Amino acid sequence: MRVVVVGGGVIGLLTAMECVRAGAQVELVDQAGIPSRLATSHDRHRVVRALHRGDPVLTRAAVRAHAGWLEVERRLGTRFYHQVGALTAMPDERVPAELELLRRAGAAAQELPAGELAARFPRVRFPAGRSAVFEPAAGAVLADRMLAALAGWLRGVPGVRLHPGRRATRVGPAGGVRLDGGSELSGDRVVVAAGPWSRELLPAALGADLTLYRQTMLSYSPIPSRDAWAGTPAIPAFGTPHGAWLMPPVADTPVRLSAASACREVPELTDRVPPDHWRNQLVDQFRELLVDFDPAAVLGASDGYYLADRAGGGPVLARLGDGAVWAYAACGGMSFKFAPLVARALADRALGRPPHRTGLAPVDQPRELAPTVRPSGGAR
Ligand SMILES: Cc1cc2nc3c(=O)[nH]c(=O)nc-3n(C[C@H](O)[C@H](O)[C@H](O)COP(=O)(O)OP(=O)(O)OC[C@H]3O[C@@H](n4cnc5c(N)ncnc54)[C@H](O)[C@@H]3O)c2cc1C
Repeated sequence: MRVVVVGGGVIGLLTAMECVRAGAQVELVDQAGIPSRLATSHDRHRVVRALHRGDPVLTRAAVRAHAGWLEVERRLGTRFYHQVGALTAMPDERVPAELELLRRAGAAAQELPAGELAARFPRVRFPAGRSAVFEPAAGAVLADRMLAALAGWLRGVPGVRLHPGRRATRVGPAGGVRLDGGSELSGDRVVVAAGPWSRELLPAALGADLTLYRQTMLSYSPIPSRDAWAGTPAIPAFGTPHGAWLMPPVADTPVRLSAASACREVPELTDRVPPDHWRNQLVDQFRELLVDFDPAAVLGASDGYYLADRAGGGPVLARLGDGAVWAYAACGGMSFKFAPLVARALADRALGRPPHRTGLAPVDQPRELAPTVRPSGGAR
């Protein structure tokens, strides 16, 4: 079987790997390089943690995704998953229920009461009345390193052809993918994993159900020194009303700082330079949260994009027509961590095998759509 994969982000590359392991031939195309620096996935690091507060289904899926990342790391023979732990701050009274959620999902976790939080993390000013749940096994995937290793692995496999710098302009219902310049790739199956650009290739009815988000993130130098930050876990939530979060310096990465409040709905994908307003609101938040925060240590700010289901806020998997085309139409804001599960299920679907269950309802129960297509247009 020949599978054409559109998109060289984490989902496209991992799906290609799964297809190859199942014996399929793969053509993988990306409008940029492979791996693609344009991809939302292409960043220094991404957090992988189990706790999804109040949500046993997502928490269980994230525990399986953690095992999935260890497996990908083993297959690629490259270290990119650093288990630095994750610290989720919340009102004291919420802690017992979240610990129980993690325990039932099979994830190790411990409570850090407010006093201990302050003692162990003196550089962080957690809001009053906050304790935290600490997950020691959680961590950060060095995303750019992992994507490069994955692309290298694919490059070395007979039966895989990579097409960097080629833009898909149309996906036909029977497995044909037209590229800019007019040539066409044909496959028995097509997987569209085009991240925030997906709407350009998919039926308008599906695109109308998706919301595009743009999020600003700061890169911050680990001052006063990298050593001073040693042992700092990922902080997916400081427990603030603005939803501030932090990715610690891992290996040679900077600190990354952002907040739910720096994420906004936008009509289209344009540039990645954050307007001052968005950058400044993050600087103001972290001035309060980090004891020795220095605005001069902000190395830069950039914006990333992702699509999410307008109704549920999460990912969308869709089958177009009779199943020759599968589209991971929207990834949601936390799909990176689930990528090993999503890719395996996507490959199963494309290859006509019984799909592995991911535990993510939108992936396990894909939408079914008529195979209408439309020509590509719009911004890149
Ligand atoms: C600021 C920010 C922080 C995040 N942090 C986390 C986190 O800590 N943990 C987590 O789990 N998730 C996180 N996410 C979400 C996560 O990064 C995304 O869900 C995930 O990376 C999406 O991967 P993807 O492969 O679906 O899309 P992408 O990585 O965007 O890949 C899509 C690829 O398709 C290519 N493409 C598009 N259109 C075409 C075309 N027509 N022809 C050819 N190629 C095309 C693009 O060039 C691109 O390479 C974050 C997102 C943002 C924006």
